[in-house]
Amino acid sequence: MKITPMLQQYLEIKNQHPDTILFYRMGDFYEMFFTDAVEAAKILGITLTSRSSKEEAEKIPMCGVPFHSATGYLAKLIKAGRRVAICEQMEEAGQSKGLVRREVVRVVSPGLVTEEQLLDDKENRFLAAICRRGQTWGLSLLDLSTGEFLVGEAGRDEDLLDELSRLNPSELLLPENRGPDSPPNSPSGEGLPVGFAALLPHCCLTRQPEHNFRLDPARELLLEHFGTTNLAGFGCEHLEAGIGAAGALLSYLRTTQKCELSHLERLTPIERDEVLLLDDSSRRNLELTRTISGAQREGSLLAALDYTRTPMGARQLRKSLLMPLKEVAAIRRRLDAVEELLRDQELGRRLDRALGAVYDLERLNSRAALGSANARDLTALKLSLAQLPTIKQLLAERSGLLGELGSRIDLLEDLHGLLAAAIHEQAPVGLKEGNLIRPGYHAELDELLAILRDGKGLIAALEARERERTGIATLKVGFNKVFGYFLEVSRAKAGEVPENYIRKQTLVNAERYITPELKEFEQKVSGAEERRLELEYRLFCEIRAKVAAAGSRILGSAAAIAMLDLLAALAIGAARHNYTRPRIDDGEEITIIEGRHPVIERHLPPGRFVPNDIALDQDERELMIITGPNMAGKSTVLRQTALIVLMAQMGSFVPAAQARIGVVDRIFTRVGAMDDLRRGQSTFMVEMNETANILNNATAKSLVILDEIGRGTSTFDGLAIAWAVAEALAEKEGKGVKTLFATHYHELTELATTRPRIHNFHIAVREWNDTIIFLHKLLPGGVSRSYGIQVAALAGVPAAVVARAKELLHNIEQGEFNRQGQPRIAAGVLPLPGSPDRPAPGNRPSQLRLFGGDDPLRRRLQEIQPDNLAPLEALKIIYELKQL
Ligand code: ADP
Repeated sequence: MKITPMLQQYLEIKNQHPDTILFYRMGDFYEMFFTDAVEAAKILGITLTSRSSKEEAEKIPMCGVPFHSATGYLAKLIKAGRRVAICEQMEEAGQSKGLVRREVVRVVSPGLVTEEQLLDDKENRFLAAICRRGQTWGLSLLDLSTGEFLVGEAGRDEDLLDELSRLNPSELLLPENRGPDSPPNSPSGEGLPVGFAALLPHCCLTRQPEHNFRLDPARELLLEHFGTTNLAGFGCEHLEAGIGAAGALLSYLRTTQKCELSHLERLTPIERDEVLLLDDSSRRNLELTRTISGAQREGSLLAALDYTRTPMGARQLRKSLLMPLKEVAAIRRRLDAVEELLRDQELGRRLDRALGAVYDLERLNSRAALGSANARDLTALKLSLAQLPTIKQLLAERSGLLGELGSRIDLLEDLHGLLAAAIHEQAPVGLKEGNLIRPGYHAELDELLAILRDGKGLIAALEARERERTGIATLKVGFNKVFGYFLEVSRAKAGEVPENYIRKQTLVNAERYITPELKEFEQKVSGAEERRLELEYRLFCEIRAKVAAAGSRILGSAAAIAMLDLLAALAIGAARHNYTRPRIDDGEEITIIEGRHPVIERHLPPGRFVPNDIALDQDERELMIITGPNMAGKSTVLRQTALIVLMAQMGSFVPAAQARIGVVDRIFTRVGAMDDLRRGQSTFMVEMNETANILNNATAKSLVILDEIGRGTSTFDGLAIAWAVAEALAEKEGKGVKTLFATHYHELTELATTRPRIHNFHIAVREWNDTIIFLHKLLPGGVSRSYGIQVAALAGVPAAVVARAKELLHNIEQGEFNRQGQPRIAAGVLPLPGSPDRPAPGNRPSQLRLFGGDDPLRRRLQEIQPDNLAPLEALKIIYELKQL
């Protein structure tokens, strides 16, 4: 196929970015061609057209999106997991001969989004990289929109997956597959740990050259970027596998973002030792950030606690929720601050007002550094900075964490002053239309603006001046296209003009002159508009660069604001929902008086949630077995206990009348059977995996929540497993693990008689007529009934089925077991129709007829007419019935 020069250029550029959709700028459109066009048209729902030029016989598929509304289209492509290379015209059309020069200025991929419209401001958007060094996984994550840059390592696949799922990256870099001749100890390109795809199904995977992940080049690149001689200052020097991953991230950024990355200021090690660990399934089971059914934010603990006023605060809340603290002193410091904010309502109110006017400092800072901030962003920055003195002032006299946060706020007065003086408040979105800079900021610009505003006035002034100077009353300033501005003097007065007048044109009655001053003026006016736009843009870029240069100071203040916002939000939540301050210590007790579930209680009318007490300790009450029918509230009491501990350790007040929490190192949960088909494993397998994880990793300092374990298999297997697991937890390492164990196997209550540290509780229900009422109250002692049938009736199972179930239950309870110990109901089940084992109708096993409608006993009984029976006959019938 013959191709035009333009297509030639297109293909060359496309060749350099093969795994992207190329947005090729043509005038006011980004055009896409070939398969890109076909794919994009489908994703974007836009019309696919075709282009055929001159000799080209074949038609080329193409589609395009307007430049000014490109962001929305970009968002759709990114959401669909595509990467987009943005190719701009690097010169004006007509500036050079032939084809306009074009270049890819940026590659946007799911992990590299900085457009405000594409970001969720309450969540980080991470780009991650992983690689292996020996037995260790290296891991690094980076949020280009906030400048956070994390590095860590994990020994086991599970730990790596935990970290990844906690931070939820949108894109993951990993080394290209290892070639046969790659040196030993090179970062493995073998792939992902098992389970990754199930955990992060929407994460876009991007392979990068293996070289980028190697320690030496990676380390060198990082040192060059940070301008340091080692990484010890960041506390990362020893994380060799992590450094490989971090280096790979940085080199990926360098190739995709053709701009400054100065806002990536430091590498932060991911600390697993200092935080309360939660594995992925516990995070999901406890619905910390989204609900299990529906994956909605609404209904999660995060949503329930989110009274933050700034996006930084919202992200901080999320982080603190997913990484609660373990150190008593640090937790108490937060609690002290929350308490102070709660007590001093005036302080809380004023802070709230000030925080409400602060924009996303982290992301504004990043956009400044990346060179994508516009004047509105800088105005938002200015407005945010304007709040800092108020906030700092409010914290000035405070002690503890509040005081410290106050002192960490850099007021950035210089920057605020600059922005206030320089940036036009009604600036447009674009940067090339002027109106960016305030009058009075820059003399030359003011002059240009003046010229533009009153060019006429200036001419009049000049004319008046010249008349006065020359004494020629008829002198006037004129303009024509050929000569531009001129001074016109009548023929008669031509002899009186000053020396510096240069004759330009002679008319019948007049002479026309120019002066250097006039020409200068003319140049000013005619180029004024263009120069003004250029100058404004240049000044704006200078100011933006100054903002970027203040990046670390901005981030310092942003971090303090984020934490402050979190504390203020916790105080608001505590006040609104009547939470109390937990007592935190290093002891072994978890005592909760009148605890409530922070999410469920809000969905019930006030006062309807029934509070419950929990007391666990190492010596006497290690394990609570909680029985009760389905729907009684077992899961609720289990989850609320975990949530209260977690909230306490993040520094929040808790939904309870009183709580004393000995800090825990990990919370493990095994809850519900609703997950998790997407892992491609059976429910039972998932359940047992999680149980194994708990048994292997729980320590004496952990809290374990087990709900209905063993449900996924047969009754006796399940019971046996549940029993054995409970025993193991109660005895683990001689100390046992604090455990709440909910079960509907009431047989399990016997376990308590064998172990002093195991205690039985049940959730009370009241029988009333033929039904039951849930009291939701946790009481000591076990129960001996499941009430499954009553619950089925309440759930709307048809009355006939419920009645039949009762009948069957009655029979089972009457000891209708066969010799193998199975209930007869089970032994009597028929083989499938058509199978050779299936007996002919009328010849079925007798057990079934016991319950059926047409058994001979029933028929015989029906035939009997007691009123007509003689005593001897009756006796005979009794014998007959006995026989039957
Ligand atoms: P189980 O685990 O025993 O089957 P759940 O804990 O799932 O029961 O509770 C079922 C429902 O009962 C909950 O959705 C909630 O509406 C209600 N519930 C549970 N606990 C309480 C409580 N303490 N106070 C009020 N309602 C409750």
